[in-house]
Amino acid sequence: MQYLSANCIIPVIGHPVFNHVLAVSDEGIIDGIFSIDELKGQINEIIHYEGALCPGFINTHCHLELSWAKGLIAEGRGLDAFVRQLENNRKSVSEKKVQDAIGLAASQMLQSGIVATADIANGIHTLDFKRNTKQYFHTFVEVFGSNPSFAVSIFENALLLKKQFAEHDSLNKVSIVPHSTYSLSEELFKLVTTEEVESLLSIHHQENLDEKLFFYDGSGSIADRRKAFNPDIQPFLGTGKRPMESIVGYFHHDQKLLLVHNTVSEQQDIDFVRHFFKHPYWCFCPNANLFIENRLPEIDLFRASNCTITLGTDSLTSNYQLSIFEEIKTLQRHFPHIPLTELLSWGTINGARFLGMEHQLGSFEKGKSPGIVLIENLDTQTLTLTPESTSRLIIPAFS
Ligand SMILES: [Zn+2]
Repeated sequence: MQYLSANCIIPVIGHPVFNHVLAVSDEGIIDGIFSIDELKGQINEIIHYEGALCPGFINTHCHLELSWAKGLIAEGRGLDAFVRQLENNRKSVSEKKVQDAIGLAASQMLQSGIVATADIANGIHTLDFKRNTKQYFHTFVEVFGSNPSFAVSIFENALLLKKQFAEHDSLNKVSIVPHSTYSLSEELFKLVTTEEVESLLSIHHQENLDEKLFFYDGSGSIADRRKAFNPDIQPFLGTGKRPMESIVGYFHHDQKLLLVHNTVSEQQDIDFVRHFFKHPYWCFCPNANLFIENRLPEIDLFRASNCTITLGTDSLTSNYQLSIFEEIKTLQRHFPHIPLTELLSWGTINGARFLGMEHQLGSFEKGKSPGIVLIENLDTQTLTLTPESTSRLIIPAFS
């Protein structure tokens, strides 16, 4: 057994405690949190850390395979320019560079405290890495394609990819997911949601206002891109409804669905989703939102509606690092009234629940092995982060 003390221990489930000791087995399993008096005379050594201890972070939205494109895309030009720039760069990169970037980004994620990641895959680039790592991944094999005549072949490719990812390790999980509300034909949508009716799903949602326009009357830059990539298909005239309202018929009420970004979601969008789905999760990627669109979601609307919020890093194409802690710092800077303990719950237990890993991850509860993160350079009296605050994993969740 190891005994770790810190100025503050934040168990996430339960209140923060000050000047206490976290007892953890050599395998990283939590035994409990004790006051120093309770342990007096019973143990020889307490390892003290300056700062706060919290459980390992969960990253619910990442594109590890895009790590090679770090720094290649200009900031603040909007989603449409972002997608076009990424396509231009994709053709010239070597596989060695792609693999090196995946390994480096994943190890930096781990060091910063991320113990489990829901990771989007459009191809096999991350397969080798995931085969050989002890880090936990739920891979989302992502599909898109507006042309209905390609739906079956796109889906068959995705099934093959799913099989390859599923074979590598029994611990890790995989499901096929729709890229966004607007980028799949009806035929492709139905194939995906029928295959994955019992699985986790994730979907990019309302990253900017173009999505609303597209569904409302078939106008805007998404409609233009659709036409440019698929010159032969029928124009889409819109549904007159909001994005999720337009596609909800493909889903089941019980589906565990993660809506990613929600940058321009309004109360009506939130109400509709909460009314239809039993278990919706709302993932925010604040640093990527600032990078691409230079705006943030109206987070207080989601809090007021009791939404279950998780956090994601998105990819290194639209972020300077893959760190849930840096996402939390950004949120605290822009929404200083939200308590750090609440932000941490989004980055730990809520993500663990989405992944179905809450029996092991997300909080300091007896019997769990969630990984242990040390947060340094924070104000431990007020539990406020500072620009200098850092996080690092001191005990892994999987070893
Ligand atoms: Zn994304």
